[in-house]
Order: sequence, then C-alpha cells, then structure tokens
Amino acid sequence: MESKPKRKDRFSYKIELHVHLDGAIRPQTVLELARKRGQHLETSNVEDLKADIVLTKPSSLRKLLHSFKVFMPVVAGDRDAVKRIAYEFCEDCAKENIRYVEVRYSPHFLSNTQPMSEFDIAPGDFSPRDVVETVNESLKQGQKDFDIKVNSILCCITHRPEWSLEVAQLCKEYKADGVVAIDIAGEDFEPGKDPKECLHKQAFTEAYKSGIHRTVHAGECGPSAGVKEALDHMYAERIGHGYHVLEDPELYERVLRDKIHLETCPISSIRTKACPEDIKKHPLLKFVKDACNYSINTDDPIILDNNLTDDYETALDMGLTEDQVITGIFNAARSSFASAEDKKQILSDLVRVYGPH
Ligand SMILES: [Zn+2]
Repeated sequence: MESKPKRKDRFSYKIELHVHLDGAIRPQTVLELARKRGQHLETSNVEDLKADIVLTKPSSLRKLLHSFKVFMPVVAGDRDAVKRIAYEFCEDCAKENIRYVEVRYSPHFLSNTQPMSEFDIAPGDFSPRDVVETVNESLKQGQKDFDIKVNSILCCITHRPEWSLEVAQLCKEYKADGVVAIDIAGEDFEPGKDPKECLHKQAFTEAYKSGIHRTVHAGECGPSAGVKEALDHMYAERIGHGYHVLEDPELYERVLRDKIHLETCPISSIRTKACPEDIKKHPLLKFVKDACNYSINTDDPIILDNNLTDDYETALDMGLTEDQVITGIFNAARSSFASAEDKKQILSDLVRVYGPH
C-alpha cells in the first residue's frame, strides 16, 4: 500500500464529533504494543498490518467490525496501552488542526474483566471503570500538551445489553471528568432485534434523567426505523450516521424541523456500503441542500486509513463548497456536548477563523 500524498489543509480549525478511540489507534502503536506484550500478530510491519485491516474498497459494516478483532487483543486489558492510545489520539487530532473533539469508546471492550467472545483477550483485573479512569487521565494530559479540548462518550454495544446500565452509571460518575454522553454502537441499532433491548433503553433513560447527553448509531446500514426508535425511545439528541432517515420522508421532516444533528462520516459510509459508491448520490448532498444539521467526521481512522482532512476533501469531491464544509464545522460546534462556556469559546474562535456562519 502506497503512502498518500499530503494534501494541503484548507481548514485550520476542525471539530470532530464521531470518532472511536479504539478505531483511531496508530498502526505503528499496534505493532509496538504487540511486541511489548508478547502478543502474536500475523504481520510485523505497518504496511502489512494495514493491508490486513484497512478497508480500501466498499465492503461492509461487518468487515469493518471484523478488523477490530485483529488489534483489540493487543490493546485491551492493558493500562499502559490504553493510556498510550488516548494520549496519541490527542496528538494526532492536534496535527489535523482538530481543536475540539468528542471521542467515544466502549469501556467494556478495552477492559479484560468481561467474559468476551468477540476478542481473544486473556482475563485480568483491568475493569471498565479502570479503563474510563485511565482514558480520562490520558486525555487530560493530552489536552494540556497539545492545546486542544477533548470530551468523551461512553458506548453501549448493541449485542451486549447486559453492559448498558454500567455504561450509564460510569457516565454519571465521570461527568466531571469530561465524560459528556452515552452512545450505542456495534451493528446498527435495529428495534425488535434484541429481546433484551429494554436494557439499552433503560440506560438511555437513566442518562437522560441524569443530564448525560445522548447520541445513537442508527440509520447507518440499518433502516430509518432505528432513527425513529432512537428519537422516540432513547432521547437521542444526535444520530451517528443517520443516512437511511431519507427512506422515511415524515421522519426526515422531523429531523429537519427539530434540528436533530446527524454525525455523517463520508469515507466510512462508502466503505461500509451504508451509502452508494457514487459520491454524487451521497445523502450528505441532500442534507446540505435541505439545511439539515450535519457534521463531517472520520469514524475509524485505523480501519479506513483516513483523517478528518480526507473526509472534508471527500465532501468537497461530492460537490460541497468550502463554505458548506465550514457550515458543518459550525453545526458540530453548536450540537457538541461541550459545556455552555466551552461552546461559547469554540464558536467565538470559529467566527474569528472563518467569519460568521
Ligand atoms: Zn461509529
């Protein structure tokens, strides 16, 4: 795989609302951690590792999730590894001129106290709570060293409803440490699919009652009904992806009217086949045309080999103007889960950089 030519960055102040910490690890770090921890990997250099895990062509959400199986055992359950990826994440954001970011992860997937059939992780005593504390500590240091603002979002996992109440509890406990919201990730949230989905709803209700913000992965590869469910029963303020909302005109009207924020991820959506390969037919174009509340995000850089500049450029290739990309950045600021004080600061910074939008 050839390394990409460096593109000129036209956007000096970026905001990212939808990126997974465990999907944003440097490939080099995976190799170094594997060596350090004595973990066996099929590959020993970055190019081969990338060839193994990067989705270069339109594939599927399932394939994307499969890539996690390669590197999660190298990171999960290890305090130093979690510490390192959170710190490097801040450094990588700063390099991309991302000045405010909300990074999300499943505390359970990075722990080793959960019996997990998903990943081959040796059991130990690094709990989901330890994961959250370790990530918080590292993000705090990273923010200081790289002069950026970072908040975090804790993810429930669609097929693991038994973890959800603990996720809500951790959100409540670590609210003062930059944990701003709850999310649900995994294969698209589809109502009625899981008999225990009421536990997810309970967790989101608990978050709502406790002043924890809510975002839900929905309408990505799954149908618009997932978006409706998120809005009707999970108090969702933002939707992760949401492309398939267009299948239900009434629901789409509601999203427009209520200014529900859609965290779009252009490159991810094409590689997972959530959206058509023909970028001129991408739902983002309709969202922009209809003055929907959209933002542009990366999702999983280690698997997509992208950064936020690439996603902005992809949006431009679709036909968005620079101004429409900037509108997405302002939308992200307004719909972020930052404190009122931080939001005011971010918006005034944005006006200084781009002019009012
Ligand atoms: Zn996602």
